[in-house]
Amino acid sequence: MSESPSTPAAPVIDEATIGDAVDAALAAIAAAATTAELKQVRIAHVGDASVLSSANRAIKDLPKDQKAAAGKLVGQGKGRVQKQLAARQSELTAAEEEAALAAETVDVTLPTDLRPRGASHPLTVLQDRINDFFVGIGWEIEEGPEIESSWLNFDALNADPEHPSRSLQDTLYVAPEGSGMLLRTQTSPVQIRAMLERGAPLYVACPGTVYRADEIDATHSPMFHQVEGLAIDKDLTMANLVGTLDAFAAHIFGGTPITRLRPNHFPFTEPSAEMDFRCFRCEARHGLDHDADPSCRVCGGTGWIEMGGCGMVHPNVLRAAGVDPEEYQGFAFGLGIERILMLRNGVADMRDIVEGDVRFSQHYGTEI
Ligand SMILES: [Zn+2]
Repeated sequence: MSESPSTPAAPVIDEATIGDAVDAALAAIAAAATTAELKQVRIAHVGDASVLSSANRAIKDLPKDQKAAAGKLVGQGKGRVQKQLAARQSELTAAEEEAALAAETVDVTLPTDLRPRGASHPLTVLQDRINDFFVGIGWEIEEGPEIESSWLNFDALNADPEHPSRSLQDTLYVAPEGSGMLLRTQTSPVQIRAMLERGAPLYVACPGTVYRADEIDATHSPMFHQVEGLAIDKDLTMANLVGTLDAFAAHIFGGTPITRLRPNHFPFTEPSAEMDFRCFRCEARHGLDHDADPSCRVCGGTGWIEMGGCGMVHPNVLRAAGVDPEEYQGFAFGLGIERILMLRNGVADMRDIVEGDVRFSQHYGTEI
């Protein structure tokens, strides 16, 4: 190797020089207070330009008889430095992680600006609960449009052309006059749609908003909610209807449900019945073997709660929906969701449900 002015002098490899370099490195390692500082120490003391690395590189140019001793001296020195670097590195990393955790600790006792927690409207919660029941027994939830054709709302449901419910006193028609479109007065048209689209057998529950030309008062509203059930299959009877209603009443009101049917007339069903549930409040208070509580606010002392209409689907309805009544039978029932909420939760006035006063909903706030 030729000497030139720009070439640095070969590093000295003796015990004093290497010993000083190692001592300086160890002192610097001990003095490093952060991992960032330690990184600088590493570069300065074992990096390419450091005394130890330069010495290491110079070993190959030494006379042969000095190489082994120099290699041992530099190798051991560098090894001590590397070992201390690793130890200090893990100490500092652990300390820094601990400090970060301490800094990120949340003080749960600090005052905070809490906004009230939102909740679903009690009617929505109840409707979800009702849907859960039907899904649980293997039925499907079916929805349909709220603006409906007169044919689906009345004719397909076997309503007489002169049926009073068609009048302007009961039904809200959609302009222009004679459009044949209306705000559905029941969710039954969804049943017709389901039968037309899917045929038999069919098990559907149809929840939704319906409209009537009513003024709002304690028990009436121009807009309210229903859920109707429809089962179409072979060999269905009224017993299947009663069994379904019993299970429904148990799910919504609890207790041991008893469903009572009273004969009635609806165009949609034949035979038709009004369905009553045994009063859950009297039952809870006095048991099934006792008479109703004469002062009961839920049933008015009768022991029974009127729930709505039901029956076996009229053959004309099955035919209108393309189902052969010789082959299939069906049962159907309709329930008012506001009525269920009022009975179940002791709501005295329907206006409380729709007026939007948050204090009403807050009673139900935990049931999200
Ligand atoms: Zn009662």
